[in-house]
Amino acid sequence: MSTDAFEGEVWVLTGSQGLYGEETLQQVAGQSRRVSDALSDAAEVPVRVVWKPVLTDPAAIRRVMGEANEDPRCLGVITWMHTFSPAKMWIAGLDALRKPLLHLHTQADAALPWATIDMDFMNLNQAAHGDREYGFLLTRLRMPRTTVAGHVGDPRVRARIGSWARAAAAAAAVRDLRLARFGDNMREVAVTEGDKVEAQIRFGVSVNTWGVNDLVAVVDAVEETAVDALVAEYGDLYEFEPDAAPGGPKHDAVRYQARIEAALRTFLADGGFGAFTTNFEDLGGLRQLPGLAVQRLMADGYGFGGEGDWKTAVLLHTLKVAGRGLPGGTSFMEDYTYDLTGTPRVLGAHMLEVCPTIAGERPRVEVHPLSIGGREDPARLVFDAAPGEGVVVGWCDLGERFRWVANEIDVVAPSEPLPNLPVARAVWEPRPDFATATEGWLTAGGPHHTVLSTQLGADELTDLAEVFGTELVLIDADTTRRSLAKELRWSAAYHRLALGL
Ligand code: MN
Repeated sequence: MSTDAFEGEVWVLTGSQGLYGEETLQQVAGQSRRVSDALSDAAEVPVRVVWKPVLTDPAAIRRVMGEANEDPRCLGVITWMHTFSPAKMWIAGLDALRKPLLHLHTQADAALPWATIDMDFMNLNQAAHGDREYGFLLTRLRMPRTTVAGHVGDPRVRARIGSWARAAAAAAAVRDLRLARFGDNMREVAVTEGDKVEAQIRFGVSVNTWGVNDLVAVVDAVEETAVDALVAEYGDLYEFEPDAAPGGPKHDAVRYQARIEAALRTFLADGGFGAFTTNFEDLGGLRQLPGLAVQRLMADGYGFGGEGDWKTAVLLHTLKVAGRGLPGGTSFMEDYTYDLTGTPRVLGAHMLEVCPTIAGERPRVEVHPLSIGGREDPARLVFDAAPGEGVVVGWCDLGERFRWVANEIDVVAPSEPLPNLPVARAVWEPRPDFATATEGWLTAGGPHHTVLSTQLGADELTDLAEVFGTELVLIDADTTRRSLAKELRWSAAYHRLALGL
């Protein structure tokens, strides 16, 4: 897999100017170090925060932005105009910057000392207008960025900076991401298609195809001892359905999935891949559709998409990086069927491939026939998803641009047990309501494959879309049919214009 983005760091760049004199600039440095240290100590910010010396001239600004671009540890930069930093000094540096940018609008201390305040204090604590000068320039330069206002002692401020840092880490991960497709897309399917060249230009990810029999050769070479070790691990982590347990009549199918898992791990590790796809129409010499194997790899952070859906596989890996360490889980998902009584609910699942990080119970290893594909009965993990707030996100290619469509959802317990459904599943209620969300999703052209995450929310998705300059259509509790229809029209005009010539 690609290198660990969470070992990276974000840089704190503080703007000022020479006019104030050395003594004041030392105070600026001390105060900005204090802000940087507060972020560094914040549990909400998941990566290292590195303070850089105060910037007072164009050459130093240009130099540090160049260093940010070139330093693989640097995930992004946080800028704060502590005092007044005439913004034309920032043009060359910002124009060169290629990393995610956060504009922090803050102040060293939350409280004003009303009784003692004098012009010295005013001149030292003037981010209120220094950051307006800088914000103007960012807008003038059309710089994509995340803007956060407030004191770093405020948990909301720290959480938003943390959310941006996660987006920056995910952006770094997808820039280095390599994806292996085993076979092509499912025949005749439209929404899983897409422009792989444009994806690499915009996101960095490299998407290439291998013949599935390249994988079969690795499957056939797996040692029995490696299969034994994985089956023992399954016993520690999951319940075996009696027929699938060691000694049971279907246990050989579990061992064959373990063989696929071991082979996939070898193939992906050897190629430096962080994501992959399969296609049930193109299994070559594979005896089963990869099921349990795929579920286990997703749980380890690999991106995956069924039916050759590489866009969803990229999105899954990206969101897994962004959500790392947060409570909840993140999985490949597909809108499957509805309960339209009472408060309507979506029953989401897939043929097999749902990630156990979203499980609300100990998954069961089961073996059942697959109604399509014509192969041997595959082993899979079966469970209900844990209830919680979350999002589903889909990625479609509109031809001239990519669009992410997201819906805030509430994952709920199934209305009744599902004893005959042999796949893992999630049941959710879309926000603001079924009709508004679903009509909006269809109008936006959102796909049937999604990533479901209970680790991330609208903030992280918004920051990610901003970093990549990708359209995000977010359907949330405040969405109305009319507001969304207008947003889609305006957004289409904006993105058409933003493409330029
Ligand atoms: Mn599917």
